[in-house]
Amino acid sequence: MTVRIGVIGVGMIGQDHIRRLSKVLAGGRVVAVADTDAARAREVAGGLGSARAHATGQEVIADPDVDAVLVCSWGPSHEDYVVAAIRAGKPVFCEKPLATTEAACLNIIEAEVAAGRRLVQVGFMRRYDDSYRAMKRTIDSGEIGAPLMMSSGHRNPSVPGHYTSDMAIVDTAVHDIDIARWLFDDEIAETLVIKPRQNSRGGELHDPLMMILRMRGGALVNVETSVNIDYGYDIRGEIVGETGTVTMAESNTVIVKSRGSFGGRVPEDWRERFMRAYDVELQEWLDACAAGEVRGPSSWDGYAATVATDAGLVALKSGGWATVTLRDKPTIYG
Ligand code: NAP
Repeated sequence: MTVRIGVIGVGMIGQDHIRRLSKVLAGGRVVAVADTDAARAREVAGGLGSARAHATGQEVIADPDVDAVLVCSWGPSHEDYVVAAIRAGKPVFCEKPLATTEAACLNIIEAEVAAGRRLVQVGFMRRYDDSYRAMKRTIDSGEIGAPLMMSSGHRNPSVPGHYTSDMAIVDTAVHDIDIARWLFDDEIAETLVIKPRQNSRGGELHDPLMMILRMRGGALVNVETSVNIDYGYDIRGEIVGETGTVTMAESNTVIVKSRGSFGGRVPEDWRERFMRAYDVELQEWLDACAAGEVRGPSSWDGYAATVATDAGLVALKSGGWATVTLRDKPTIYG
């Protein structure tokens, strides 16, 4: 079965997902698109041959030829599209964040609970990365005993001028937050944000930041965000368990030894580092859609991440611990 997909928001990640759906993956075809920039939508649809450019995202969702929806517009618009797709009974892949406020996330959860089944997958692509999956398997096998602590490093060579200290938590650390919840299979209880000496390359930006997550079970996760580190895009991860550790290996496939030293390539940016994870993520979404199922990071995961980043913003301002308070988890989320 070919899943016919409508894409809302055809900017950077929207076009990248359309490329992978059209040229890399199997089982999906983009049949409709929309964007607030109508000319961009027409251009992208034109490049796809038979795809339609609709005037609005709501028209994409209502299009009878669209089986499943991909939301890649900017964060504050996600809620309306995701709720509309749920009400139309169509599976929806929503790029992170699920929504930008706790209330918006809860609206989505309410709509899904009313539908009586999961329809939403959130774009936390790290869960599809080979390294993180191997770390998860190691923890779940019991080989290192119960996980006690994690160090998670999220390093960017540079960020655009509009990037703020809040974005280090909401846009950057959010991926570390989701992966910590997934690896530890636990919710975050509270968070603290510490400001080390500032990197002079970041101007006024609080960079780096050290965010501490205390999980409900007591484990501690420290998340380093360094967004002006120049040398490359470097994702680090190590978990200390009761009887062993599991550490993310370097992502390059060869090590070069020459003139008394050895080395390898550091990825240039997140696209290079997580290219395969994005492919696997969308392929698994397509496969699930074709099977009439929805798997992967849920609306609950999107909600929990947004509540945690909200607490992170409070902690950044106050300098103290901020509590992460979640509603009771509806049964459809397991
Ligand atoms: P982008 O390049 O700005 O693209 C967003 C597109 O959506 C633009 O064409 C924008 O049009 C359009 N748009 C904005 N509001 C809309 C609305 N209400 N209805 C329809 N279209 C709308 O942004 P991006 O970098 O692709 O990011 C898009 C989303 O993906 C964000 O939520 C972002 O956080 C997420 N993302 C996730 C990852 C990841 O690692 N998982 C990576 C990158 C991005 P205008 O330009 O006219 O505003």
